[in-house]
Amino acid sequence: MVVLVDSCGNDEIQHKIHVFQSLGLKVYIVPTSKGPVITLMGNDCIDISNISLVSRTVQHVQLKVPYVLASKIIKDTPTVITLPNGVSIGSGALVVMAGPCSVESQKQIDDAARAVKNAGAQILRGGAFKPRTSPYAFHGLGIEGLRMMRKAADREGLAIVTEVLDPEDIPIACEYADILQIGTRNCQNFSLLRKVGKTGKPILLKRGMMNTIEEFLMAAEYILSEGNMNVILCERGIRTFETETRNTLDISAIPVLKSKTHLPVIVDPSHAAGNWKLIEPLALAAVAAGADGLLIEVHPTPDTALCDGMQSLRPDKFELLMKKINRIASAMALH
Ligand code: PEP
Ligand code: MN
Repeated sequence: MVVLVDSCGNDEIQHKIHVFQSLGLKVYIVPTSKGPVITLMGNDCIDISNISLVSRTVQHVQLKVPYVLASKIIKDTPTVITLPNGVSIGSGALVVMAGPCSVESQKQIDDAARAVKNAGAQILRGGAFKPRTSPYAFHGLGIEGLRMMRKAADREGLAIVTEVLDPEDIPIACEYADILQIGTRNCQNFSLLRKVGKTGKPILLKRGMMNTIEEFLMAAEYILSEGNMNVILCERGIRTFETETRNTLDISAIPVLKSKTHLPVIVDPSHAAGNWKLIEPLALAAVAAGADGLLIEVHPTPDTALCDGMQSLRPDKFELLMKKINRIASAMALH
C-alpha cells in the first residue's frame, strides 16, 4: 500500500508519522515538485480513510512496478546528492570520479589525486577493501588505505568513493569516505544493502553483472527502504556471450533507468571494457546517452598496478579524455 499525503506543518507531520508507525506502517518523507509528501508502506491492507489525519490524502498509488521508493511515481524530481566538498551528483552537471582500482601507497594515491584533480575530476576513487576473484590476489590496504586516500583527497579538495565488502568495515569506511560503493558482486547481497541503507551516506550501487534493470532497481530499493534516499546507480557492464571485452556495457540501461527512476545514473567504462583503449569511446557514448557521471580508473603507472592496470588510464591520457568529455557534456547541456 502506498498513500501520498499532502504536505503540512512540521508538528503535524511528526504527529502523523507517529500514528502511522503505530499502525505498523513504514513512513518515508519524500521530496517532490509539490513539496514533501508522506509515503506509507505496509504489507497488509489497512484502512486509513477514517483517520482524520489523512483527510488531505491526495493519492492512492497503484504500482505497476515492484520497486516503490526508486520509482518516479513516488518522486517526480531528480535526486540530487550533494557531498561535503560541494559537488552535486544528479544536478545536470556531469560529475567525474577517477583514481586507481586500489590504493597501493601514499605516493601512488597522492600522484593519482593530483592528476585527476588537475584534469577536472571532482571525486577520487580507490579501493581499500578489494573484492578479488582469487583469494590469493592483492586485497587492498584496508584502513591504512582509507587513511592514505583521505589525506590525498583532502590536499586536492576531492571527495572520496570507496567500496565496502564486509559489514564490519562500514563504520570505518563512513568515517573516511564520502560515498560508499557496493560492487557488482554484492549488488544482491541484501543484508549488506540493508546495512548501508542504515547509514546516511551516499551509496554508489553497481549493477550486478548478471542483473536485469528491474533487479538492479530492486537492489536500490533495499537501500532506500532503510530510509537512505542517497543512492547513485552505476552501469558497469554485464556478462554476455561476448569475449572481446571484459563485460558488455549496456548503454541502453542509461535512458531506461532515467525513464524509470529519479536516482542519478553514472557509468563505469573501465570495468565494462577491461581495456584502457576502449575507455574513451565508451565514456563519450555514456555522456551522450545522458549519464550523470563517470567512474574511471586512472593510475600514475598502470604497468606496475597491483590491480586492473590493463584498464587504467595514464594521467596524460585521462587529461585528454576529460577535454573530450567536457565537449560532449556541453553539447548535451544545450538540450
Ligand atoms: C571496482 O570499482 O574497483 C570494482 C571492483 O568494480 P566492480 O564491482 O564493478 O567489478
Ligand atoms: Mn578495478
